[in-house]
Amino acid sequence: MDNHYDVIVIGGRCAGASTAMLLARAGLRVLVIEAARRGTDTLSTHALMRGGVLQLHRWGLLDDVVASGAPAIRATHFSYGDEIETVDVRPGDGISALRAPRRTVLDALLLDAAAAAGAEILRPARVTRLLSRDGRVGGVEGVTRGNRKAFRATATLVVGADGRDSLVARTVDAEFRRRGSAAGAIIYGYFPGLARDRYHWVYRPGITAGIVPTNDGLACVWVGIPAARFEASRPEDFRGLLAQAAPEVAESIAAAPVGRLRGYPGAPGYLRASGGPGWALVGDAAYYKDPITAHGITDALRDAELLARAILAAPHGGQAQLDAVRDYQNARDRLSEQFFDVTERIAGYRWDLCELREHLRVLSRAMRPEVDELLGLDDPNRESLLTG
Ligand SMILES: Cc1cc2nc3c(=O)[nH]c(=O)nc-3n(C[C@H](O)[C@H](O)[C@H](O)COP(=O)(O)OP(=O)(O)OC[C@H]3O[C@@H](n4cnc5c(N)ncnc54)[C@H](O)[C@@H]3O)c2cc1C
Repeated sequence: MDNHYDVIVIGGRCAGASTAMLLARAGLRVLVIEAARRGTDTLSTHALMRGGVLQLHRWGLLDDVVASGAPAIRATHFSYGDEIETVDVRPGDGISALRAPRRTVLDALLLDAAAAAGAEILRPARVTRLLSRDGRVGGVEGVTRGNRKAFRATATLVVGADGRDSLVARTVDAEFRRRGSAAGAIIYGYFPGLARDRYHWVYRPGITAGIVPTNDGLACVWVGIPAARFEASRPEDFRGLLAQAAPEVAESIAAAPVGRLRGYPGAPGYLRASGGPGWALVGDAAYYKDPITAHGITDALRDAELLARAILAAPHGGQAQLDAVRDYQNARDRLSEQFFDVTERIAGYRWDLCELREHLRVLSRAMRPEVDELLGLDDPNRESLLTG
């Protein structure tokens, strides 16, 4: 049957494009359906942490990110009130620096890599309904944008990489395994003339800020506040909020035009059940936490590979695939829980600077196991968490 696939992936950004690329590289017949046009931005800043850069390196895509002009980030400055600490990026594991490409760059690059590996890409097109077959998810129905042509395709597995408002999660009623309560809001824009070689994170009680150097000589500058305070602010308050959080940064961009500012009101985190008969979830559809710890893309790239490996262990469906996808879910949970908890504490903004420093130490420790797990994937003698 022409329109039958091993895997249909709904959503073609960092989680979906990576999953599709890995499955297509392994020879599976894959269809990706993405609602947005190529190169469109999304509501997200884009700092990558070590695990995310490591994935791009392992997949042979880091050179393309470098070629895009995303600068080398060799250190992180942490401002606790007026006190600054610097942590250098440790060269090793094939990585000499971190990178923070714009989503217009990263998502396009990943989807191009999926297409180059043989995945079919249907875009811009929206899935409107899941099809069921023998009591399991068995395919999708939707419509292309522009010429509004209806389509239908079937698959052994449908992967929801369709973000926080996931159609797949809603349709299968994927249960929440964890639900958070903290939510931070973020307002951000892009500015020239800031340092290109470091992330800068600023913490003061009740307000945070960050600088993320990126493509085109610009840096993403963001201010974070508790969600409750966002309701009373407007994007135009950006400069005033930035002056409270990081007066020296506000000063250094005072003369720059503000351009487009984007505001995110915040939403509590969750970990969802991520596999069932004929379906799986990955990326924000499966696991979301407050952006204050800047880890959603890094986690999406990690979990894309854990899911792809699980699918490849049992590509023909049935109970074997269900078991493998549940192993992925359990591995994801083990790698994520400590990170989820500490993100909750930071995003709750109920800390003084002494407590915040302790939260950041926990955060730093929570990143190590995921990097070890990713490095272990290339070591044939090492048992993966997926089987542990
Ligand atoms: C304000 C903010 C700042 C952030 N900053 C950072 C950061 O600095 N670092 C970091 O690592 N993470 C950050 N994140 C988190 C990061 O943006 C997410 O974790 C990441 O986008 C998840 O990727 P994804 O592929 O799972 O989902 P998404 O990026 O949400 O992509 C889902 C895609 O699915 C498509 N789609 C949805 N429904 C359908 C449908 N029915 N049919 C077809 N297509 C569909 C959408 O068009 C979309 O393109 C931030 C998030 C926010 C909100």
